[in-house]
Amino acid sequence: MTALLELKDITIQFGGLMAVDHVSLRVEKGWISALIGPNGAGKSTIFNMITGLYKPSAGKVYFQGRDITGLKPYRITALGIARTFQNIRLFKNLSVLDNTRIGRHCRGRTGMLGAITRLPGVKKEEKEIEERACEALRAVDLLDKREELAKNLPYGEQRRLEIARALAADPVLLLLDEPAAGMNPQEKQTLMEVVQNIRDMGITIMLVEHDMSFVMNISDHVDVLNYGQKIASGTPQEVQHNPDVIEAYLGK
Ligand code: ADP
Ligand code: MG
Repeated sequence: MTALLELKDITIQFGGLMAVDHVSLRVEKGWISALIGPNGAGKSTIFNMITGLYKPSAGKVYFQGRDITGLKPYRITALGIARTFQNIRLFKNLSVLDNTRIGRHCRGRTGMLGAITRLPGVKKEEKEIEERACEALRAVDLLDKREELAKNLPYGEQRRLEIARALAADPVLLLLDEPAAGMNPQEKQTLMEVVQNIRDMGITIMLVEHDMSFVMNISDHVDVLNYGQKIASGTPQEVQHNPDVIEAYLGK
């Protein structure tokens, strides 16, 4: 069976540094899959290669069996991969709804030129975008706050708003880079429910996260990186008891 996402020997070098060194991994449809490892292990760099921000120096990225290595980010989004970033990237002075709409525009059919030249279709598309954005906000439990300015949301809700924006692009696969970072226990609990809810909507999730109890509670599968190399892969129980993983974390 083809995996939903498959990385084959992907590698990237920055100067003399092998940031990601021949990593292969699979994410199956329906999984919540975690990518863990100490700081600087190469986790965000892998997300950047999957989403087309960085081009691997070797290796391949396959999505739904199709080679997407080196495609432009907007094309990868259009194929069904959306993401959030490690740091919040919201438009603080726009409303919650407008921030979410922006995610949908990435997949708009008419685009900018269509907006200018095909006026009759645009209103309909705007309505569709708004409906889609509202569904995304409902999924992260922020629909009630759609008129608020992003900057007025508490931190945990700002991070969920980022997830809503990614969801508005209607992804098949959603990549979350440290979604629980900086959250208090209550915010983490809500986030966990939101992530499970998104998976139940049929969206596959790959996440990078440092909070081990979050990862171990939520994931179907875990891949572990250290210094750019994959050192373990398996169920949460399997990787937790893997001596190489224990050493990578304790040896920091
Ligand atoms: P992680 O997300 O696992 O903490 P990163 O993927 O951000 O780690 O980084 C992996 C390594 O690659 C680090 O040593 C980092 O400094 C380096 N790195 C990442 N992006 C770049 C870049 N654009 N230029 C140079 N070095 C980079
Ligand atoms: Mg990172």
